[in-house]
Amino acid sequence: MERIYLDNNATTPVDPGVFAAMRPYLEHACGNPSSSHALGREAAWAVARARRQVADLLACEPDEVVFTSGGTESDNAALFSAHFSPLCPRPGKRRIVTTRVEHPAVHDLCRRMAEQGCDVVFLDVDERGLPDLDAYTRALTPDTALVSVMWANNETGVLLPVAEMAARARDRGILFHTDAVQAVGKVPVDLSAAPVDLLSLSAHKFHGPKGVGALFVRRSCPFHPHFLGGGQEQGRRPGTENVPGIVGLGAACEIAGQRMAANMERVRSLRDRLERGLIADIPGARVHGKEAPRLPNTANISFADVPARDLVRRLDEQGLCVSSGAACHAGSPEPSRVLAAMRVPAPLALSAVRFSLSRLTTAEEVDAAILHVTRAVDQAMTRTRGT
Ligand code: PLP
Repeated sequence: MERIYLDNNATTPVDPGVFAAMRPYLEHACGNPSSSHALGREAAWAVARARRQVADLLACEPDEVVFTSGGTESDNAALFSAHFSPLCPRPGKRRIVTTRVEHPAVHDLCRRMAEQGCDVVFLDVDERGLPDLDAYTRALTPDTALVSVMWANNETGVLLPVAEMAARARDRGILFHTDAVQAVGKVPVDLSAAPVDLLSLSAHKFHGPKGVGALFVRRSCPFHPHFLGGGQEQGRRPGTENVPGIVGLGAACEIAGQRMAANMERVRSLRDRLERGLIADIPGARVHGKEAPRLPNTANISFADVPARDLVRRLDEQGLCVSSGAACHAGSPEPSRVLAAMRVPAPLALSAVRFSLSRLTTAEEVDAAILHVTRAVDQAMTRTRGT
């Protein structure tokens, strides 16, 4: 069975150019970058080149890039750093401002911090998935230590107004972190224009390998490492570097940067074709987040009366890989927290399926996906009606 993969917000296939770049570091170029011999120097050089490739994509300085094990670690490192920073206001008066639609790597840590006495403000979003900027500005009190707002939502693709929010935090001397895991490599992320202090990214969301990512830490931003150990990454992230992974991340950044504008347009037109096809063929199909600026690759669509879990299973049997929400909680019977925050009624939220395309998706795959979904919804409705 030919599989069609439309679950690229969960993870993406590794680009052949990325694989080729990594290969020597999985074979003979086995040195530890801290070793002073030739193989060590070769590994250190490869890590330095990858750091420049990441910095070039983000328009920042190489020494502002800290390699990590992925998005989750970067998010945790950013929040822990700000939480324990001596620059934070007095204990018990530390405020963190975030939104209700963050990935669990931020949301659950913020909830934990709230349980431990931290004053955490979870901003509401409207039906479009966007926070109210006046309410946000009111939340930025003098004892606010950090803001953490995602660049792009993983379930709906909605792009939050991060540059504007970061500017308002900067005006008040408040650190700003953004989880840009779903944005980097898909849309321009320009740190020379957005005054964010900390930014998380993850290689496997844009055709790099799994288990490697980076945290951007602006030179002016105080940083307190969460892990203690060796002096790697200028003491900001100890542990022997994942050299093949870091090389893969660097290559993924370079490739994404080269083809960004053309890929965005192509992927957007395929995503729109998918949405148009499904809306035309399936009565009651509703797209979530389409009134807001969105990633070009993501479509989150409810098919009224058809539980998403059943639909995803049926589609899987037909060879179409999609998701009934974020990959990390796709098994959950609860309606998505993100859709609930957007005031999508629970029955509709429970029928929401996420389709996420990539630059490797073809028009033929999109057309086949429309047929698969239309047939699967039809079968499910027939069954429900008992006919
Ligand atoms: N943040 C967002 C918005 C994500 O979508 C994900 C992964 O789904 C993560 C963080 C976690 O990234 P990683 O899988 O690299 O730990």
